[in-house]
Amino acid sequence: MAYHGASYYIFFATDPKLALEEISFDLKELLADVMDLFREKVREKGLELQLSFLENIPSRLLSDPSRLRQILINLIGNAIKFTEKGGIEVKVEGHESSDSTFHVKIQVIDTGVGISAEAMGQLFQPFSQADNTHTRRYGGTGLGLALSQRLAAALNGKVEITESQVGQGSTFAFTFNANLDDKDKKLGSSAGSGKNSEKSLLTGTRILFADDSSDNALLAERILTKRGATVVIATNGVEAVELAGSRDFDLILLDIQMPYMDGYQALRLLRLEGYKRPIIAVTAHAMSHEIKQTLDAGFDANITKPLDQSVLINTLEVWLSKNGIRRRVLSS
Ligand code: ADP
Repeated sequence: MAYHGASYYIFFATDPKLALEEISFDLKELLADVMDLFREKVREKGLELQLSFLENIPSRLLSDPSRLRQILINLIGNAIKFTEKGGIEVKVEGHESSDSTFHVKIQVIDTGVGISAEAMGQLFQPFSQADNTHTRRYGGTGLGLALSQRLAAALNGKVEITESQVGQGSTFAFTFNANLDDKDKKLGSSAGSGKNSEKSLLTGTRILFADDSSDNALLAERILTKRGATVVIATNGVEAVELAGSRDFDLILLDIQMPYMDGYQALRLLRLEGYKRPIIAVTAHAMSHEIKQTLDAGFDANITKPLDQSVLINTLEVWLSKNGIRRRVLSS
């Protein structure tokens, strides 16, 4: 105990006042980068790693992205470390607060070993690990959560464990308050109203949407063109593959169930023909086995029907920014 006390002091004494920055950054890009760090590990362990946005997030916020990154790496890293089967979902939501800052909540939900009620109370103490066997089995120092909580407090937020059951998994929630970057308009804030196209990562991109249901395709077209994307609609997999061979698309959405050639076959052909940019599956059910099946087949992400405007926009923006499309559009 005495040793822990002393180390605790040394640990925080090296950093008595956290130096924070406030710079403009894109939360979606930051999350996409952090998720990328773990792709290999997740694949090795046969887990799923999903990112979902529950609401619109402004394209730019003012906060300290390198501190945010540290916290996210700790939470997502822990979730992967303590999960052997199933997966990890990172859910992002946010709203503008009355003081015109933006409140963001990021939940990291895993299906891992879970934490006993007893151990939960100690988790955020430096050097505490839920179980003495954890150090031997998983390594680690027991410092990550203590530091994350301290960083989060400096960002006007907190890290907490909101749910956990031994053998079932855990949910950690990280909240923080950021300032809005006034130079940038809030995405989707006038969705459904004005006719002007809104500034978005989608502006200037070319999207192929393959779906035999015209309702669905037209809805997607309306949402995406409003943000300055050019949308081409295909009604089946054959058409999608032909169109992709003759024109340059930044991203392709494929409905899974289509006549003549379904989404899975179209995906295989597109990859065989050398299409290297994101391909996103559109499925009818949000059933987790179906989502897993599409990711296993090689789709980059999955969107479920009925299409939700925020989910559609946010997912596309994440995948477009991962592929450097943003930089290309802005510099051309
Ligand atoms: P470390 O991971 O280096 O041990 P942390 O402070 O990040 O340090 O975590 C402290 C302890 O909390 C871990 O050792 C583990 O026992 C428990 N823990 C953290 N995250 C999870 C999780 N997602 N699932 C189960 N246990 C967890």
